[in-house]
Amino acid sequence: MSLSHLAPIPNLLNAKRVLCIQPHPDDMDIACGGTLAVLADRGAHITYLTVTDGGAGSPLRRDENELANVRKHEQLEAGRYIGVQEYIWLSYRDADYLPGQQLQHEFIRAIRQVRPDTVVTIDGWLPYEAHPAHRNVGLSAAAAVLFSAMGNIGNSHELQPHGVQCIAFGFTARPNTFVDVTNTWQRKMAAIRAHESQFPDHTWPFFEHYFEAKAAQHGPAAGGEKGEALKVFAPIHLHCNVDAENM
Ligand SMILES: [Zn+2]
Repeated sequence: MSLSHLAPIPNLLNAKRVLCIQPHPDDMDIACGGTLAVLADRGAHITYLTVTDGGAGSPLRRDENELANVRKHEQLEAGRYIGVQEYIWLSYRDADYLPGQQLQHEFIRAIRQVRPDTVVTIDGWLPYEAHPAHRNVGLSAAAAVLFSAMGNIGNSHELQPHGVQCIAFGFTARPNTFVDVTNTWQRKMAAIRAHESQFPDHTWPFFEHYFEAKAAQHGPAAGGEKGEALKVFAPIHLHCNVDAENM
């Protein structure tokens, strides 16, 4: 029996209850908003957990709290296009270093509260990713998926352990799953555009072309005009697995 039969890659499209863990408002919409909109259309319940308040997301010096407030409202607006139903805001200060172990505990708690079958986050192993919040959140979310089923781990003992069936990473250089997002593409672009503070008008032509080109690149593998690429695993793939990179 082959390894892929022993421990198959889960089918992301079977997700019914999805917890998305993102460092900043906008990451999930950009990384895989089209896929999340597909899942929402298929009846999945989608929760966005946002780790930081996004108050550092500006090239200009501006009031952090005011920017954080703007970005929260932008995410709420964007989520309407995707079909997000619930939000968890951890509101860590964006400009601060994020302690990994504390994040793991926060995510374990969220997984035990939301009780998703699928966690979607960003790939913390992305080569050359320079943003520490992206690395820390991606890696801590993966650790939380591993640990949320273990009753002795975590500081939330009033909550029952919960096993997640599937974890999907956006912003990945090693995709193994391609989703046809042709029918949800306009909603994804509207969601990204809702993050106005991150995509002011003069920058939009570049980003619009970039996102369109990436979607066209992944279209054939997804079986449609436009595709998104993700790395999808079951928890068993996340530990002592020498084949994970190439699965
Ligand atoms: Zn980000």
